[in-house]
Amino acid sequence: MGERRRVDVPAPTDGERRLNRYVCDKCKSEAVTVEPGIGRVPYELRCRSILAVAGQRHMRCDGFARSQFYDVPLDAVPEWEFYSPQVSDIHSWFDRWKYTNNILFIRKIGNADKGN
Ligand SMILES: [Zn+2]
Repeated sequence: MGERRRVDVPAPTDGERRLNRYVCDKCKSEAVTVEPGIGRVPYELRCRSILAVAGQRHMRCDGFARSQFYDVPLDAVPEWEFYSPQVSDIHSWFDRWKYTNNILFIRKIGNADKGN
């Protein structure tokens, strides 16, 4: 499936929402994310998932968007949020793997579409 399983970013412990930025190593597209402050987030996301959810399937990219380790411009506005999934959010073996390992799911802010 090409999914990668590295989870290198530790959970923030201050309970505050944190902004992060993911940049695709292939097409250089960016995604600004927000984290709830609990749970773990992936080091990298499948870029094509982000673009597909954005309704731009023709732009599908097979690269990976990698965490910039909280290097985010001060005026950045998050378009994606990590969230703690419910059992009803599990739709694949990979979802189940993430759920079992307490890895947050990602979704576009403002709708219920899944990002990964
Ligand atoms: Zn890309």
